[in-house]
Amino acid sequence: MNILVINCGSSSLKFQLINSETEAVLAKGICERIGIDGSRIVYQPEGGQKIITESPMPDHTQAIKLVLDSLTDTETGVVKSLDEIGAVGHRLVHGGEKFASSTIITDEVIAAVTECNELAPLHNPANLIGIDACKKLMPTTPMVGVFDTAFHQTMPEEAFLYGIPYEYYKKYKIRRYGFHGTSHSYVSKRTAEILEKPYDQLKTIVCHLGNGASVCAVKNGKSVDTSMGLTPLQGVIMGTRSGDIDPAIMEYIAKKENLDIDGVMDVLNKKSGVLGLSEFTSDFRDLEDAVLAGREDAIRAMKVFAYSVAKYIGSYVAAMNGVDAIVFTAGLGENNKYVRTDICDYLGYLGIELNQEANAKRGMDIVISTPDSKTAVLVVPTNEELAIARETLALVK
Ligand code: AMP
Repeated sequence: MNILVINCGSSSLKFQLINSETEAVLAKGICERIGIDGSRIVYQPEGGQKIITESPMPDHTQAIKLVLDSLTDTETGVVKSLDEIGAVGHRLVHGGEKFASSTIITDEVIAAVTECNELAPLHNPANLIGIDACKKLMPTTPMVGVFDTAFHQTMPEEAFLYGIPYEYYKKYKIRRYGFHGTSHSYVSKRTAEILEKPYDQLKTIVCHLGNGASVCAVKNGKSVDTSMGLTPLQGVIMGTRSGDIDPAIMEYIAKKENLDIDGVMDVLNKKSGVLGLSEFTSDFRDLEDAVLAGREDAIRAMKVFAYSVAKYIGSYVAAMNGVDAIVFTAGLGENNKYVRTDICDYLGYLGIELNQEANAKRGMDIVISTPDSKTAVLVVPTNEELAIARETLALVK
């Protein structure tokens, strides 16, 4: 069966068509600037060149129509008709406490996801628009929702409750939810396969380090703690997000800079992290170049970043009473050997020894620790689209 995987944001829409038997990506691409001037679709069939077409996309329905037209195009398409698309898998960001696993999308599910919109006001409404657009254009094709939060619903109470009045949890469901769950689940499962150990007997710490970054403790196949919280602002410092800070800093900045709450949130979400610390970039590639050139501002940002990740790893060793494997994934985790080294330099107490030759490789599943290392360290490229396709297949079968 061919499965169309959709990751719908407010002004962009990423897609992949995956053959579920071979797991080959038949085509992939992105619609950019939806609802804005200059919208375009980038479409790439398997083994072919990228085709970039500028085309007006006033809304997401038009964007999905262009995706379906590209997939069925007589020259560059990869299927003859929409009948060859057996199901659609949607990435959904926030399922609150309502969804502990992926689900077939029904009207009831749409209503329940809509109730979670308050928890992810930037993401969930966009995800729902993608569902609506697919419903209009492919009304009989089954759809599945795969939630970023679902994998973390196994966290125990002591990990998900905050030390604030319990009534806020009861009234407003304020608690830690965690994100990147599809990635943490995929990468931790893959780690068990690579190490040839049973997934349900392994203690893994997954470091998903991209522009957004989170660390997750996976014990015996279940997420038991993760660094992001009610929102993706909590946890390790990120490209532009502050991660953990003393909450009183918010009031202090507001008074000093004469900002309202929205202004402070803007600083913490968009002007902090390594961007705020380096004062010049949120992009870890630029930072890496600047660190190699000896720039103090970049070195400062990278040091704080690596330290914040290492502290989370330490706390999850405590939470799981040990660790078998530490795994790096996502844009930075997969590609930056220096940051992996800097983080592992803090972890000597775990008996970690890196194999720098393996650590320098890219784009593959690889164990980067030496055979003598007491804890295994791996790089596992994440593949959220494939994980969504697998979940979708399992539910529609
Ligand atoms: P993601 O959010 O997973 O797409 O990751 C984005 C972050 O990963 C950005 O800060 C990039 O600079 C970084 N990144 C992506 N590719 C590379 C690369 N080849 N080398 C170093 N950093 C990279």
